[in-house]
Amino acid sequence: EISSNHQQVAILVSPEMGHLIPAVEFAKKLTIHTNLHVTLITQSTSSSLSMAEQSILDTLPEELNLVCLTAPSQLKNLPEGTLAINVIFLTIAYNLPLLRTILESLVCRNSRLALVVDLLGVEALDMATELGISSYLFYTSNCMSLSLSLHIPKLDAEFSGQYRDLPKPLELPGCLPLPGKDFPDPLPLRGTEGYAKCISLAKRYSEVKGIIVNSFDELEPGAVKALKENLGVPRIYPVGPVVQSGLAKAENGYECIKWLDEQPQGSVLYVSFGSGGTLTGAQIEELAWGLEMSGQRFLWVAKSPHEHEPSSALATAQSLKNNPAEFLPIEFMERTKGFGMVVSSWVPQMEVLSHASTAGFLTHCGWNSTLESIVNHVPLIAWPLYAEQKLNSVLLVEGLKIALGLVEDGDGLFRREEISRVIKCLMEGEERKKIREKMREVNEAATRAVGKSGSSSRSFMELVSEWMSY
Ligand code: UDP
Repeated sequence: EISSNHQQVAILVSPEMGHLIPAVEFAKKLTIHTNLHVTLITQSTSSSLSMAEQSILDTLPEELNLVCLTAPSQLKNLPEGTLAINVIFLTIAYNLPLLRTILESLVCRNSRLALVVDLLGVEALDMATELGISSYLFYTSNCMSLSLSLHIPKLDAEFSGQYRDLPKPLELPGCLPLPGKDFPDPLPLRGTEGYAKCISLAKRYSEVKGIIVNSFDELEPGAVKALKENLGVPRIYPVGPVVQSGLAKAENGYECIKWLDEQPQGSVLYVSFGSGGTLTGAQIEELAWGLEMSGQRFLWVAKSPHEHEPSSALATAQSLKNNPAEFLPIEFMERTKGFGMVVSSWVPQMEVLSHASTAGFLTHCGWNSTLESIVNHVPLIAWPLYAEQKLNSVLLVEGLKIALGLVEDGDGLFRREEISRVIKCLMEGEERKKIREKMREVNEAATRAVGKSGSSSRSFMELVSEWMSY
């Protein structure tokens, strides 16, 4: 506990669960362990909060000042078919005047305030400077991804082609070599509006006073050290893993948890592609067959297929099939009834991962999902789809060796035989022992990092002392 009079921190959260969950957890940590007065400002692209969002926000302590901005009215006038990612950017832009009012009122109350923004929130930096507020970035992924984000404006200036044509993998200090094809989206699409937006955001990351990263020293010692030694980048605070905690159990319990209760210990593979990940119809079919052929128990969060976009957050609205029976192979549900469960909606993932029946996680490698798996000691199968997930997959499969990778066929599809092979490896093969052992090491390192005088706890305290000393 650090005591002082009430200095303030405001945390601005971009829309979508992937941003909301770590921001809420970080805000909780600040409220519970320090005397800072915390204001959390959430943004949404719809006019009301979803049940999942509400249940996350319900875990916030009362002392925290919560401001929820729902969809700005201007969104009503957007042309039909506007991409969801653009809706997010516009929401952030339209909310700026309101944000100014909020920040001004906070500054009045107490002269000193620090503002924390996330990856998409850097639009607010100019306003913060004008108001005399110091800004920090909360980078909700790992240090390898952060290193690339900080380096990309330079690479953009030096290399003019598409990154998949880079003559050799990019070697960032302290990081694993990263082939251009594995660069985060939308970097592989040079020349598009999305690419330009990404570069303009990345250029601003070095303007902040400090960068808080949801990773920890022992997970990425090389990358952390290199970032800390690089005088050209802001001060780095690895405070991770910051993951969901103290979740209220759903009142009636979830069907999937009841089902897990009935399965043998350490027998179930959990399959999920995060809050937005989607597969094509053909790929869903291969996955279904792969699961069935593996003969392993599974809990699959199966989302409606999408033929063009790997994330429903990137897709335009389409008619979603909510009933998996409509897009899974005929009689799949009947045939796998004894050993598989398919759900179509949100599941309480932390509960699933911490359940004694869960023994593996086939994941899209979203960073929150990855950290949650590490904290719960569940080894992975890496099936990256979009955003920085391919980079994460390189880190997990080649670097940390806590995930098994899948090999694509010539058409960029994971075939049922390959899927089944890798699932069996993770769940019952010789490989299982090795990967579980690696995961145990990483899990212990994570526990140490956030434990008393662990590296992340120290970084957190440094950051808090800096804010307290204003
Ligand atoms: N999540 C969940 N239930 C679901 C899907 C996702 O609780 O059915 C949570 C998951 O635990 C994680 C977050 O949503 O905290 C997803 O974040 P991640 O970075 O893994 O992926 P994203 O959804 O941002 O691609």
